[in-house]
Amino acid sequence: MQDLHSLTKASVFVLFANAGLAGLQLLRCNRKWVAAGALALNSLVLLNATVEGFLFWLYGLAPKHIVVADAILGSNANEAREFIASYWVHIVLVSALLVAMIGLQAWVERKFNTVRAGTPKAGNRRERLLGSGMFALFALLHFNATMAEENPLVYWPNYFADYQQQRAFLAEVKSKVARDLAMARQYKTAYVGQPRQTLVLVLGESVNRSNWSLYGYPRNTTPELAARRDDLLVFRNVRSSDAATVQSLLKMLTPATLKQPDAWLTEPNVLALARTAGYHITWLSNQEQGDGPIQILAEHAHEQIFVNNGHGRGARSLDERLLPHLKRVLEGPAPRKLVVVHMLGAHLRYDLRYPAAFDRFSGADDAVSTTLYKAGRPYWIRKARNQYDNAMLYTDHVLSSILKTAEESTTASPVSLLYVSDHGQEVGHYRNFSGHSSTDPSGYQIPLLYWTKGPDPDPAERRAALEARDYRTDYLDHTLLGLLGIRTRFYQPENDILSSQYVDPPG
Ligand SMILES: [Zn+2]
Repeated sequence: MQDLHSLTKASVFVLFANAGLAGLQLLRCNRKWVAAGALALNSLVLLNATVEGFLFWLYGLAPKHIVVADAILGSNANEAREFIASYWVHIVLVSALLVAMIGLQAWVERKFNTVRAGTPKAGNRRERLLGSGMFALFALLHFNATMAEENPLVYWPNYFADYQQQRAFLAEVKSKVARDLAMARQYKTAYVGQPRQTLVLVLGESVNRSNWSLYGYPRNTTPELAARRDDLLVFRNVRSSDAATVQSLLKMLTPATLKQPDAWLTEPNVLALARTAGYHITWLSNQEQGDGPIQILAEHAHEQIFVNNGHGRGARSLDERLLPHLKRVLEGPAPRKLVVVHMLGAHLRYDLRYPAAFDRFSGADDAVSTTLYKAGRPYWIRKARNQYDNAMLYTDHVLSSILKTAEESTTASPVSLLYVSDHGQEVGHYRNFSGHSSTDPSGYQIPLLYWTKGPDPDPAERRAALEARDYRTDYLDHTLLGLLGIRTRFYQPENDILSSQYVDPPG
């Protein structure tokens, strides 16, 4: 019910499990016991599928999603009674289906599990070899963590342990954030901006700027942003500090830098400072909730909205889901607003990151495909590149829609927007590889865009000079504090890419 990928995994497990049990038959193990084992295992798999299917039907969420886990494991007896009272019809229907399936299985087992006359008591050598091989394969499957999870006897204990761990982590995060905010009152932040102000900070995911036509890529991957080119500052020389999400975002939004990676533990982050300066903060995300240090940042917000129904960054959840929430948040009454929008962008798998209408480069025969072919890139890399470029085209559309939403908002004015990707991506740019890369320049080549509503008073020469500035995003917190109009001893204008006091490059 969730997706083809989950169905395939479950089917592979069932196939191997039953083949393993059939192997025991070939080894002439006790027939009754093997039959009972088969019935128990297949019933458990059916029960598991029923529970997961039921949860998905009810919540539209993967069972591991924190919301679902909370509902199953965090409810008290009263809530459980209420739940049964409201869903008893569904529960009865689903249970009846399960009982029928198990009954059918038992019937098949009884009817067909007979010994053919003349079958020798001991198997021959070939049967023994085959039988052991089949059972060994089933056992070996458990060494693969993802496949082992398909076994209900592995899955549910893990599920419980994961949940406990996540609860403990979130409790710890909440107390850290409370401490941070209490401390923040002593930072003596001063607000020097306009009385009303909104900043939308859009955090991209796995976007390499060299795949944007806005930065000169031969494929037309950013038509909508190109149409807004005159309203944008398009920074050409920006690198991410890291090639992975958590490390990079942590350095963008906190005082941590490559030189001082632990500074975020002792010094205040942008969100804590913005809160003390009177901003209403919203964290709007299409990524996973409870994801390590990112959750610590999210907890600083007054409001957290997670729109991703799946589990992890591998889930299919299109970024357009963010738009209606953004529209509502921008209409909020607070005079000063900071909205962090965390996109799923082009995170692996690329083919899950865009709807069919944006599938424009699959099978393309153009300058890019020729270059890749001449560089000796194999078929699977060229295919990944086409899918990645489709994801770029879709990101262009979502970003443009976000800009339109900000532009049309009447309550969030004046409003500006900063877009930056957490890191780049290698998709056959330098070698036969696709994914995160900390060893190629492609892992760090990111776009940085700045937009503000209304005409930009800066002359063209100043804009061009700004766009050419050399920057690394572990200093982005200074740019953000500058944009937010926050003055504190933690703000250094020489590290603010938009400041007239900027020193090139920072650090
Ligand atoms: Zn990332």
